Amino acid sequence: MANITIVGGGVIGLSIAYECRTRGHETTVVEAHKCGGQASGAAAGMLAPYSEIEEDPDDFFRLCQNSLKLFPKWQEEIKQNSDVDFEYSESGSLYCIYHEADRLSLETKQAWQRKFNVESTILNADEVREKEPGLSQDVVAALWCPEESHIYAPGYVSALLDACRKLGVRVIENAGEATFEENNVVVKGQRIESDRVVLAAGAWSMYWEEALGLTLPIYPIRGQICAYEAPSLNHIIFTSQGYLVAKANGSVVAGASEDIAGFDTAVTEHGVGRLEKWSKQVMPALQQKNPFHKWAGLRPATQDGFPIIGKLDHKPKVILATGHYRNGILLSPVTAKIVADEIDGSVSEIGLGQFRPDRFQVI
Ligand SMILES: Cc1cc2nc3c(=O)[nH]c(=O)nc-3n(C[C@H](O)[C@H](O)[C@H](O)COP(=O)(O)OP(=O)(O)OC[C@H]3O[C@@H](n4cnc5c(N)ncnc54)[C@H](O)[C@@H]3O)c2cc1C
Repeated sequence: MANITIVGGGVIGLSIAYECRTRGHETTVVEAHKCGGQASGAAAGMLAPYSEIEEDPDDFFRLCQNSLKLFPKWQEEIKQNSDVDFEYSESGSLYCIYHEADRLSLETKQAWQRKFNVESTILNADEVREKEPGLSQDVVAALWCPEESHIYAPGYVSALLDACRKLGVRVIENAGEATFEENNVVVKGQRIESDRVVLAAGAWSMYWEEALGLTLPIYPIRGQICAYEAPSLNHIIFTSQGYLVAKANGSVVAGASEDIAGFDTAVTEHGVGRLEKWSKQVMPALQQKNPFHKWAGLRPATQDGFPIIGKLDHKPKVILATGHYRNGILLSPVTAKIVADEIDGSVSEIGLGQFRPDRFQVI
């Protein structure tokens, strides 16, 4: 069995720790602050590759689809090993349009989804409002994807942390910025000797570029998001402007903006103002309300939009699992399995070429 040190206690680091530990490896997670305190705790928790991915499907789409299919069993296992609820809901989604001219985009989406055996139906306005009576009268049609799901992301991260601890993962929180020196992780001046090192430091992974001798174009993209006390929704609602998703505490979450602000997680009037404007058009019950909670997180984006997953050829002890951008919650089970397979020496069935860590090297 291997001795593994994982840097980063977000959804990616904790999922990898959980999977490695269940396979019998000695596993340590090193987190600079509090586990789940960054992007993972800020996420809306949608497991929605069919609505989120607009372009023709590629290896990235396949990765997302694969992970969505892993979720029912994966979340069941986490539940069995943890006392924390995370509201997994197979609600399905409605991708709504408001102009006849946009119908073609729904049909195109449905056509490529069919090639991947995705179940979806285009509903007319009456059918949409029957499924979701709280939506505005302006809706013209929607693509209904019954397989899309959602979870309560902060609860999911807490459940993963709880499960990791119960299974015997060593979790070091408030460790400060771990560094990589002489092929090992160093925390507050102490070396942690390990067989394998996994970098799962989200948007901060860029700071390991020099130590790893690798070009790592990872950038923080701020996402602002807000929640209303509002009548519940039965589905995740997507529009071209954003999404609405209901949570068990009686809130409806509206997300999410995208802007570049370095590592600043402040909420701005402009960012949340835009969310408020369109969400009130989509769901009239929100019109007299103000969000009771507004927050932001930093999505780890890469130069080409794909995650970075795999071992380094020039430092085979090190595995990267980062750059999950808008889909880290969705991609958590598949990433955990790919990394654990790499550690176990088994070949992944999933095409990983597009996610290779060395793809940004200038030759
Ligand atoms: C507003 C918003 C909404 C989103 N909605 C969704 C959604 O609906 N569905 C979805 O799938 N995804 C969503 N995402 C994206 C998702 O949140 C991210 O892709 C995911 O959380 C990335 O996880 P991570 O573990 O890589 O990063 P993080 O959660 O950022 O974790 C990285 C951790 O590493 C730690 N760290 C960094 N450097 C070091 C170091 N040197 N030493 C020790 N620790 C270190 C950090 O403190 C941090 O805790 C959303 C993101 C945002 C911001």
